[in-house]
Amino acid sequence: MSEQRQCDLLIVGGGMVGTVLAAALRDSDLQIILLEGAAPAVWTPDEYDLRVSAITRASERILQAAGAWDGVARRRLSPFREMHVWDAGGDGSIHFDSADIGEPYLGFIIENSVTVDALREVVLQADNIACLEGLRFESYSQCDGQCQVSLDDGSLISCDLLVGADGRQSPVRDAAGIAVQGRPYGQHAVVATVTTEHSHQETAWQRFLPEGPLAFLPLADGRCSIVWTTTPERADELINVDDESFCEQLGLAFAHRLGGVTATTHRLAYPLIQQHAQSYTAGHVVLIGDAAHAIHPLAGQGVNLGFLDAAALAEILLQTRQHKRPLWDPQALGQYQRWRKGDNLSMMWSMTAFKQLFGAQLSPLRLMRNMGLSLVDRSGPVKQGIIRHAMGLAGDLPRMARSTAASSPDAV
Ligand SMILES: Cc1cc2nc3c(=O)[nH]c(=O)nc-3n(C[C@H](O)[C@H](O)[C@H](O)COP(=O)(O)OP(=O)(O)OC[C@H]3O[C@@H](n4cnc5c(N)ncnc54)[C@H](O)[C@@H]3O)c2cc1C
Repeated sequence: MSEQRQCDLLIVGGGMVGTVLAAALRDSDLQIILLEGAAPAVWTPDEYDLRVSAITRASERILQAAGAWDGVARRRLSPFREMHVWDAGGDGSIHFDSADIGEPYLGFIIENSVTVDALREVVLQADNIACLEGLRFESYSQCDGQCQVSLDDGSLISCDLLVGADGRQSPVRDAAGIAVQGRPYGQHAVVATVTTEHSHQETAWQRFLPEGPLAFLPLADGRCSIVWTTTPERADELINVDDESFCEQLGLAFAHRLGGVTATTHRLAYPLIQQHAQSYTAGHVVLIGDAAHAIHPLAGQGVNLGFLDAAALAEILLQTRQHKRPLWDPQALGQYQRWRKGDNLSMMWSMTAFKQLFGAQLSPLRLMRNMGLSLVDRSGPVKQGIIRHAMGLAGDLPRMARSTAASSPDAV
């Protein structure tokens, strides 16, 4: 007979977002299973992960409340205090400085594997969380107020609530019959770790090129992690050219802002899509992170939105439990959806507008955006508002993101 496990909450997907939800609930009375289809991601100090994320101050607070921030800081992170954004098609530019709003940092550049590793350390120590790794969700059925989940080894898990934190392709979302709206951006993001002639000055740099934005993100060892958004064909070329030619092309595309690019790692490319689930809930299923929404990486917000989803859901589930209602209570899940959907949608629309505005090559539009950038740069209050929003310090934040226990500069 096939093995049968039981829990209150089954989280499918042990990426950054699924694992933060589990960690956020580590001190609750909920019995949780965290299911990850791949082998555990192992972080090693010897090599930098090519996948990094710009982490907002709100996400820092969430990771802190989830018990993982010290683990992240102990492994490796890189704070950035300033951000320079400029347009290759004109002289418009904007400069953000954390000092303008009295904060020590705008955010942190953190390797994705560092975040997962630190969160995994927390959940592995929790008595109420079981981690199943190397096993995949296949399908589920609902009956008698329970959800029966089948895994690819033939075993079963029954749970009250099934959380899809299983990424853009989300098998849980498909199994729940939740439709998605979206389309490819028609761009790929090329990532690599590079050495530049001049220091990155703890600054995140972004140049808008006609084919897409090119970002240089500061790393702790002085190198930069780059995200170069371009056409699929150019991305293919950039991955396959020799290192010398790549460095030369990259330096040119970046207008040698940090001098020449003197060394590079190998490159990887990711197709970019915009995608939004029509509903975040269906019966016993709820979606968080990229399973619910995928957006352009140009403002570095994807996982930050996912962390806010996880923090909001954790808060609502604890309230639901306190009121002795079932975890799949439609009212509670509806509250989660209302809380997060508007926020995620408005970020998605902003990213689409940005992409279209900066992709436009018509002279009047180019002129307008250059004037707009410079105007915003000179307008104190508008600029401060943008900084606060980008740092995740504005809006209807879940309690975990509001905590005042965020790190001091000494913790970095
Ligand atoms: C080039 C690039 C740069 C980016 N930069 C930033 C940035 O600077 N800042 C930012 O906030 N965001 C950024 N993002 C977005 C960010 O990477 C994503 O939003 C984030 O990784 C989503 O995390 P997730 O946990 O929701 O999903 P994923 O990371 O996709 O995790 C899903 C997990 O589910 C598992 N899974 C899938 N199917 C199954 C199954 N059937 N059974 C069990 N497990 C399963 C997978 O193995 C995976 O581990 C960037 C994205 C790209 C492409």
